[in-house]
Amino acid sequence: MTSDPVHDQIHSQVHSQMHASAQRPAPSGIVIVGGGMAGLALALLLRHHGQPAVTLIEAVALAEGEELDTPSFDARSTALSAGTLAIFRELGLSDALLSRAAAIQAVDVSRRQRLGSTRMRAEEEGLAELGAVVENRWLGQALLQAVRADEGIHLIAPARVVQTRRLKQGYALAYRIADKAGAEQPEQIECALLVAADGARSRIRDALGISARFDDTGHDALIANIGLGDDCPPEAAGVAWERFLDSGPLALLPLPGRRMSLVWTGPRALIDRLEALPEAAFLAELEQAFGLDRLGRLARAGVRQRYPLVLTQACAQAVPHGVVVGNAAHNLHPVAGQGFNLTLRDLSLLAETLGATDNPGALSLLADYVSRREGDQALIRQASRWLPELFRVRFGPFAHTRQLGLVALTLWPGLRSQFAARAMGLAN
Ligand SMILES: Cc1cc2nc3c(=O)[nH]c(=O)nc-3n(C[C@H](O)[C@H](O)[C@H](O)COP(=O)(O)OP(=O)(O)OC[C@H]3O[C@@H](n4cnc5c(N)ncnc54)[C@H](O)[C@@H]3O)c2cc1C
Repeated sequence: MTSDPVHDQIHSQVHSQMHASAQRPAPSGIVIVGGGMAGLALALLLRHHGQPAVTLIEAVALAEGEELDTPSFDARSTALSAGTLAIFRELGLSDALLSRAAAIQAVDVSRRQRLGSTRMRAEEEGLAELGAVVENRWLGQALLQAVRADEGIHLIAPARVVQTRRLKQGYALAYRIADKAGAEQPEQIECALLVAADGARSRIRDALGISARFDDTGHDALIANIGLGDDCPPEAAGVAWERFLDSGPLALLPLPGRRMSLVWTGPRALIDRLEALPEAAFLAELEQAFGLDRLGRLARAGVRQRYPLVLTQACAQAVPHGVVVGNAAHNLHPVAGQGFNLTLRDLSLLAETLGATDNPGALSLLADYVSRREGDQALIRQASRWLPELFRVRFGPFAHTRQLGLVALTLWPGLRSQFAARAMGLAN
């Protein structure tokens, strides 16, 4: 329970609403609040697995093409694992996505001031590629086009959910749609299952009576697209580079067109300084941190944006008639690029579990889904939390383990394959 005003309001109305609902038919259908990566993907997966209709409410206007700019679909890029690509293939999205994506042929993990690195190669894993990287705006575009093309998905955007009320067998939502003159029109909808896909600071999660743990790491992630110079070795452009500095991990992921997507994490004071540097000085610092020999001279840096690394974990993910997904369920450190990949595995199983049921709010179904996702979620959560810490510690008990970790991954193909399988979302 929380002291959120929306939540208090909801509970003050539960009793009278439950009484009123006794005279009415039980609500049906699924409403997803939040049309980010998780919400859009879930709507498509639910339809794919047989749900006759899904309603999706998103607060921000969903524009076409390069104009798309929402909290989910901004200047970032996302590394999609082979498992995620397989799910997108099932949804018929591969062509739209892959035409804008860069393949990951290898993953290279290294640590500054240590010789050597661990490299996982697609061919050693018997795959054409380990995954692919796509800019979030294009990922959003592909999802949005598929959602708009599906007559069973009712997309309401931009619309603000202003009240959530518990009914006996579902939820009632009040939301406001802005008309062309900017005036807000009040609307209502009822559902048998309410899905919170509204991000890490989810109000819908609160309304479902689910609290969350927030762990502010004191670090931020700085992102930018980086243009490669002419001296970049061709084979380096298909590698996803992960470099552990004393201040935190730094990743450079391949993008189409001789560009790479940078995610540089570190203490807020460092990120303040990096963000304020002129482009040339920023690139020089990045070259030094990354090691010039790997990618040659870096030619350009695009717009820099930052994200606070406040790790979030919902204390529960299902209640009767309610389920929490995506960042609202777990917001991870971006070190291994696992947040969305993990979410998509969740969503795929949720949609499969619900299938074509006409009782999607049944706790037995939702609890079954949650229990079957616990193992994978716990493993990825622990690895994402543990990896940056392990590599950050310079001395002390972890120093030895850290080297062992890298050596072990390099020398034991079995262990490396297991790690790769998990990172690619192929492991059970
Ligand atoms: C720097 C960085 C790099 C990352 N890289 C990767 C990667 O390489 N690979 C990977 O797998 N993951 C990556 N992630 C994680 C990935 O970005 C998240 O998993 C993903 O954004 C989760 O999306 P979401 O839809 O759950 O939440 P969000 O992106 O927060 O979307 C929530 C949506 O809900 C809407 N909303 C909020 N409140 C309301 C309301 N009241 N009514 C209606 N709508 C509402 C918002 O407008 C928004 O559109 C990265 C994350 C960061 C920060």
